[in-house]
Amino acid sequence: MCGIVGYIGKRKNILIGLEALKKLEYRGYDSCGFAFFSEKEKKIFSLKSANRISQLEEKLQKSKFPLTGSPSIFHNRWATHGPPIDINAHPHSDCKKKIWLVHNGIIENYRFLKEKLKRENHQFSSQTDTEVLTHLIEKFFKGNLETAVIQALKLVKGTYGLAVISEDDHQKIVVARNSAPLLIGIGEGEFIVASDPSAILGITQKVIYLDDREVGVLTPSNFFVTDLNQIRKEKTIEEIDVETSIYFGIL
Ligand code: GLU
Repeated sequence: MCGIVGYIGKRKNILIGLEALKKLEYRGYDSCGFAFFSEKEKKIFSLKSANRISQLEEKLQKSKFPLTGSPSIFHNRWATHGPPIDINAHPHSDCKKKIWLVHNGIIENYRFLKEKLKRENHQFSSQTDTEVLTHLIEKFFKGNLETAVIQALKLVKGTYGLAVISEDDHQKIVVARNSAPLLIGIGEGEFIVASDPSAILGITQKVIYLDDREVGVLTPSNFFVTDLNQIRKEKTIEEIDVETSIYFGIL
């Protein structure tokens, strides 16, 4: 289980998220990647590498990508299903390349779901368990991303911390967790989501911790959390205890 970062808000430079992802390198990883919505081009760009973040940055410099956009999602992968090669790096997308997702954990019933989705003509481009999530979300997407994510998660058995963005509902990041850590950092006019507090501290110390089978919806100005029945949950905003975390070697 490796690293997730997601950012939405006032700062549009995507390198902010990449810097936060670097804070998760200490956990070890075999591949990395990101996707972001460019407001100028009205589309999602993605880049991946079965290598270090520094190599991803080199690829980015050589690319013609804009460096600005929001929301954005980032991932360090520790392969469980499918070898560490570029196509298996996260983020993964649906058939139309409009829905992009990063995932930590293991989808236990992915074989069953993949066969079913293939029979419905979904085209898979990786060997990962994760990719079934993007196609399930695509199948249920009717304009509202969190509704589609929740419908997909109801069919999934396994562990997940995940973050999803979509071109057709692009003013939000949808996040969810089940037995994989995920917390939402609450800044001034910005939110950062991550699998580990160390990625959040550059932006804010105020966080909420998602509990199992909860879904968070982040927009540039607001956020809310629901269960898988779309019932709103009250969450407590906590402060990351920096000194204790350093003492225990967490930060
Ligand atoms: N099971 C997923 C994969 O193999 C996610 C691995 C991870 O947690 O990094 O791509």
